[in-house]
Amino acid sequence: MSDTGTRILAIANQKGGVGKTTTSINLGTALAAVGRRVLVVDFDAQGNASTGLGIMRADRRLTSYDVVVDRTPLEEAILTTLVPRLEIVPGDENLSGVETELAEDPRRSYRLREAIRDHVAKVAHDPDKRYDFILIDCPPSLSSLTINAMTAADALLVPLQCEFLALEGLSQLLRTVEVVRSGLNPQLDIQGVVLTMYDKRNNLSDQVADEVREVLGNKVYKTVIPRNVRLSEAPSFGKPALLYDYRCPGSEAYIRLASEMLQRERMRAAA
Ligand code: ADP
Ligand code: MG
Repeated sequence: MSDTGTRILAIANQKGGVGKTTTSINLGTALAAVGRRVLVVDFDAQGNASTGLGIMRADRRLTSYDVVVDRTPLEEAILTTLVPRLEIVPGDENLSGVETELAEDPRRSYRLREAIRDHVAKVAHDPDKRYDFILIDCPPSLSSLTINAMTAADALLVPLQCEFLALEGLSQLLRTVEVVRSGLNPQLDIQGVVLTMYDKRNNLSDQVADEVREVLGNKVYKTVIPRNVRLSEAPSFGKPALLYDYRCPGSEAYIRLASEMLQRERMRAAA
């Protein structure tokens, strides 16, 4: 990590529908709720993190696409959200063209890293602008966007759905992390793995959780995110679950996850 005090985490898993965006929105909100300054970078062409934080298409004048393709300074693309201390660089469907548009640039994988780190350095001494956390909501692929995110990040937070073959996709993800470490970003770490869509009535959920803990040990967060319909309803109101229903089990789980993450980060900083 840089000595700027900003932790840059890529929320990554090449599988779709595992809870990356839900985690970006709700973990980001929970961290902001306890006083941290958080930036979510929506790096998926679906733009779901933007929609889920109430940023309508018409408001997305500049996006993460402009940041990586046209080198628009991050600051110009940042928008506030309805959550105090939580800001966003929105994303939109233009992102699906990044792969081809950057194909000729040998340094294409560094685009997001350079944009984020320039900004972090610039605001490092301004407490009103400095972020404690930057969360990059990755697309469901191992495309050049995800490589950009892994190159930009200090570490990965991996949401893993409690379902059959959850670990199979993980080994592919970890191989990609090794490739990024061997060249683009030697410091890249795994911050943690969070089990999502846990269903206590389904034995398979427990089996998967046990198996994942056996393989990944203490990288796996104790906090498990339950399957909770409130988490899936909230985005259609353009709100994080914490603002839609702060007492639902999903909101409570993300508050616990934020607390566990802060504790883990304190231990890491002290080590
Ligand atoms: P990803 O970003 O990995 O593709 P999402 O966060 O968009 O995954 O989640 C996929 C779908 O599942 C979305 O409709 C979302 O609202 C829903 N969802 C995510 N997490 C949960 C959960 N814990 N319980 C119920 N629905 C969830
Ligand atoms: Mg997503």
